[in-house]
Amino acid sequence: MRAIQYLGVNTVKLTGVARPVPEPGHALVRVQAAGICQTDVHVRASSVEMIPAGTILGHEIAGTVAEINAPDSLLAVGGQVVVHPVWSCGVCRMCVAGRENACRNTAGRSSPAPTPGVSVNGGLAEYVSVPVSALVPADGLDPAFAAVLPDAGLVPFHSLNAVRDLLRPGSTAVVIGIGGLGQFAVQLIRELTGARIIAMDVRTESLDVVAGQVDRTLLSTDPDAAAKVLAATGGYGADFVLDLVGNSATLRLAGAIVAPYGAIRVPGLSDGVFEFETSQLQTTLPWGASLTRPYSGTHQELHDLVALAQAGRISANLVRYSFDDALSAIDDLEQGKVRGRAVVVLDS
Ligand SMILES: [Zn+2]
Ligand SMILES: [Zn+2]
Repeated sequence: MRAIQYLGVNTVKLTGVARPVPEPGHALVRVQAAGICQTDVHVRASSVEMIPAGTILGHEIAGTVAEINAPDSLLAVGGQVVVHPVWSCGVCRMCVAGRENACRNTAGRSSPAPTPGVSVNGGLAEYVSVPVSALVPADGLDPAFAAVLPDAGLVPFHSLNAVRDLLRPGSTAVVIGIGGLGQFAVQLIRELTGARIIAMDVRTESLDVVAGQVDRTLLSTDPDAAAKVLAATGGYGADFVLDLVGNSATLRLAGAIVAPYGAIRVPGLSDGVFEFETSQLQTTLPWGASLTRPYSGTHQELHDLVALAQAGRISANLVRYSFDDALSAIDDLEQGKVRGRAVVVLDS
């Protein structure tokens, strides 16, 4: 079968590999579509092997069940599914509490559970073998849209769910970074809370995409950006700051605009450094504010997100590529040319 494989430092190629045989507990998924993410760009651009050489990329996967090697599974062959990218154990105390993204058996302190396309073979291929426990039914969705839910949709959804009590009518949410994830974040905040939304990005074109859905747009490079957010919130700051960029400049901005007891969430990978000060005179965070790094999302959240999508309550700006053109998708994303989420759609 055709696959997009990471072959070592700076090397990603379209190759031919054997079709996987599902091990016990796995299903074989015939891939219909697979999203391309900044993670794929990072993996290819890195001067060290961030992931094992030979790994098939693709952690945003939608497809149909082709074969099931799990006799007790209630999944139907032929059914449409999306793949939860957190292949956790399902039995540890975090997993049974519905916190698969903090699994005690398959994840380490700073390494997550097995992730398709990162630590095990992913879905930028015609077929992928997936634990049945990671499959979420997604019937009736456009496969290209379904494919982006498990990462571009799930990541902002998880960050938002953890701070829902802060987001009420009258409160303010700031989303920094309006790419594929940021566009989902804006829709989810609108759909699920009554909060006012301020969108920030370094590019006017990115802000234009969500201008009709938010209360205000601001260039994050505007030297008065922080002052404008404070002025818009009575000097108090934003209750929720979702920093989807995570570099040192956006982290500093997030600290400067978050409200006391507000929440900064930084779910992405970047190279940012946040200076934590405890001085009364010069503070990087107001009293009570929290900053955390949420990881991916839970299995239940992916179910909820699919339900929102099936109800027609969320959508995505998709930039579609054919499988033979998958490498151009990574190039375009690297060069900042994609205004939405890049998805590789497989011909049937
Ligand atoms: Zn990703
Ligand atoms: Zn577990």
